[in-house]
Amino acid sequence: MATNRTFTMLKPDAVANGYIGGILKMINDAGFSIIAMKYTKLSAATAGEFYEIHKERPFYGELVSYMSSGPIVAVILEKENAIASFRTLIGATDPTKADEGTIRKIYAKSIAANAVHGSDSDENAQIEGDFFFSKLERF
Ligand code: UDP
Ligand code: MG
Repeated sequence: MATNRTFTMLKPDAVANGYIGGILKMINDAGFSIIAMKYTKLSAATAGEFYEIHKERPFYGELVSYMSSGPIVAVILEKENAIASFRTLIGATDPTKADEGTIRKIYAKSIAANAVHGSDSDENAQIEGDFFFSKLERF
């Protein structure tokens, strides 16, 4: 199986509620290696650009204002089958539908403020990681 990479953000609700340590522990315990990590804050413009793929969806405006409402932690992760493995670890978009033991089940408040992002494909993981990190920031 290919060792590959995914991209995640710990979203503003998770940071504000003090869940950075708990979520990173779950990610480490699941066997992911950290390739790059940054504590930062999106502006409305940069959040809008990051979520451009969703701009026709009804929740886009709310998503952009929420994602620029406070600091986030951006992370590139590596593991065998990283995309699917990480999506399993985080659980469904809507935390009320997420499996027991998943990050969103444990830490998310709502479908919008759902604690973490996870890339949905190798191509998007590359694009999303490149959005935040230069090659000098990856180890
Ligand atoms: N989102 C929302 N309302 C919805 C669906 C999604 O606010 O009805 C937000 C939520 O924060 C989600 C993000 O938009 O994580 C991106 O949506 P996507 O469908 O890509 O879900 P994900 O891949 O994050 O599970
Ligand atoms: Mg998605």
